[in-house]
Amino acid sequence: MLDDHGDFRTHFVREPAGLRHHPALVLNADFRPLSYYPLSLWPWQEAIKAVVLDRVQIIAEYDEVVRSQKEAIRIPSVVVLKDFVKPQKRVAFTRFNLFLRDEFCCQYCGARGDLTFDHVVPRSRGGVTSWENVVAACSPCNLKKANKSLRNSGLRLRRPPRQPTTEEMHAVGRRFPPNFLHESWMDYLYWDTELDS
Ligand SMILES: [Zn+2]
Repeated sequence: MLDDHGDFRTHFVREPAGLRHHPALVLNADFRPLSYYPLSLWPWQEAIKAVVLDRVQIIAEYDEVVRSQKEAIRIPSVVVLKDFVKPQKRVAFTRFNLFLRDEFCCQYCGARGDLTFDHVVPRSRGGVTSWENVVAACSPCNLKKANKSLRNSGLRLRRPPRQPTTEEMHAVGRRFPPNFLHESWMDYLYWDTELDS
């Protein structure tokens, strides 16, 4: 994971199940989380490896200790990268990111369950698969829309779909924090920040 900066972003702990795995919050050199969704968390083994390789500085630690042959190291709970990793400018067009952009709710009726993807301009009418033409839609709305144009479907989009910026994705990601947060991470996370400004 640590050989390539590009990989810093992709191998995070998705389900920090309590303290069992002692994940470390990874901050960029500007002290902001490398990623909000998923939150940039490394398994403790990766965090220790990064410390040994001098890639990160330890900001906070757990009480627990791991022992190597030579020494005992307290497990880091927050680490900051020594070299700044440039945020990705372009948000990858993936199913997951599309759901995240749409905040996991149907863009027609706002329902949160049973989500699918809908082409606003149907593929049968030449609609392409792009940020601008695909939205999260619940199954009932998807069925209702079928191959109709938006106008003929009687449905209305809550907002025009477009390519999100990295900042927008961070803002949405902050609304979906993992269900475990260690107290030492709180100074670096701003879940309660006003996002609508
Ligand atoms: Zn719907």
